[in-house]
Amino acid sequence: MSSVFPVRPPSPPAHPPATLPGSLLPTPLVIPRPEHPVSRQLIDREALKVMYRLRDAGFLAYLVGGGVRDIYLGKVPKDFDISTSANPNEIRKIFRNSRIIGRRFRLVQVFFGGGKIVEVSTFRCRTDDDEPGDEASVLPANNEFGDPAEDAFRRDLTINAIFYEIESYTVIDYTGGVQDLHDKVVRLIGDPARRITRDPVRMMRVIRHAARASFTIDPLTWEAVITNREMLNLCPVSRVRDELFKDLRGGACCAWAKLALNSGIFTVLFPFYETVLADPDNATTTQNLLLNLLGVLDRLTAEGQNVPEDMLFSLLLLPLVVAEPEFLTIQTQQASSAHTLVLRDRLEGYFLRLNIKRATQDQIARSLATLPLMINTQQQDGSWPKWLTRKSYFASGHQIFELYSEAQGMKTVAEVAFPVTAAGEERAKSSFGGGGSRGPAFAPNTKGGVFGFRKY
Ligand code: ATP
Ligand code: MG
Repeated sequence: MSSVFPVRPPSPPAHPPATLPGSLLPTPLVIPRPEHPVSRQLIDREALKVMYRLRDAGFLAYLVGGGVRDIYLGKVPKDFDISTSANPNEIRKIFRNSRIIGRRFRLVQVFFGGGKIVEVSTFRCRTDDDEPGDEASVLPANNEFGDPAEDAFRRDLTINAIFYEIESYTVIDYTGGVQDLHDKVVRLIGDPARRITRDPVRMMRVIRHAARASFTIDPLTWEAVITNREMLNLCPVSRVRDELFKDLRGGACCAWAKLALNSGIFTVLFPFYETVLADPDNATTTQNLLLNLLGVLDRLTAEGQNVPEDMLFSLLLLPLVVAEPEFLTIQTQQASSAHTLVLRDRLEGYFLRLNIKRATQDQIARSLATLPLMINTQQQDGSWPKWLTRKSYFASGHQIFELYSEAQGMKTVAEVAFPVTAAGEERAKSSFGGGGSRGPAFAPNTKGGVFGFRKY
């Protein structure tokens, strides 16, 4: 068998701009079955069923996106997306157990037993988002859909635009994605600045996929991200939020943060970090603590633990708060409560653009303000004063303390049995899905996972 990464033929050009008129679209690289790794055995049964049903009804149907990319990379894909020549109404007719979602881009979700959902989209044309024109104007109904080549060129990254088809089991690559997988390069399709301008969240996707796959970023793409990073502020909060959670929970958060810091995307997302990261006395320590904490988060994710939103943001903010001169000296309950209020006010400003619920902000403020209390009241035998263990915020403060200790290289959280009070258990039950009975609700054998966070 020859290499699964065949060398591209000399023509078509490796990375044609996304603005080519339809007639100039290149012919794709077509890779026969023996020369690529995408086997039906690696594809979800339901996704195969959907493709066969569409084919039998006379339509084209390709596996696209992360499904093909991850199989190439030897990973188990998270989900399988399908692109087809059938329009949403036609898809709906073929699959009675389905529904159409989305306003601008209509997708069909096909439901299977066991809660499985396969998402099917109609081939989109490039006019969807990459041709000049009035964003607000309504495209004529027929204009919305395109052919496979157009669909490939409107996708974000070359490595995400590879098709697999079930007629002769070939891989079809219009944009040079297979070569980029081989070269371990993340590259925006077309003119990077233009693609970013049309949809700035693509910058987050560039960084995510480079971090996840340990790929380098093509210099033109990287330059365009750096130049256009502020455009992220123009995106609807909900989209940025969705993308951010994929990064925080994706298991490559530490690598993601390095790229986000280097590109400046980090301070666009979290402008409140600007001052401390520009301060020569604090920048390195703050950055190192941040990366270490996110490394701990990646470890928890790798163990299948679903870290709740308040804890994710507490970890993200901890280095900032720790950099405040007096913060770590707090040692009384009164001072900690007063600081909770200060943090609450500050968080409101921080999170305006991320749409974090008020209750979650309060939880974050409380947990953070408890950290110095945990550090400064810990007794010689490693326990804490009774009055503190009875507090409702003890459990979350303790978790922050443990994660902070691990990030500081002191110990691994998994080795610690968590003493939990009745009040602590309450919180554990309500927010983390762990705990229940007396004793160490966060011990390794609980249903909620080693750290008490819910498993996926
Ligand atoms: P994951 O493993 O996180 O699911 P994915 O690449 O499949 O990775 P999805 O969010 O499921 O990511 O998107 C599916 C596909 O849709 C992508 O692979 C890409 O081809 C396309 N896509 C997603 N977002 C965009 C975007 N903003 N612009 C262009 N294409 C996009
Ligand atoms: Mg996907």
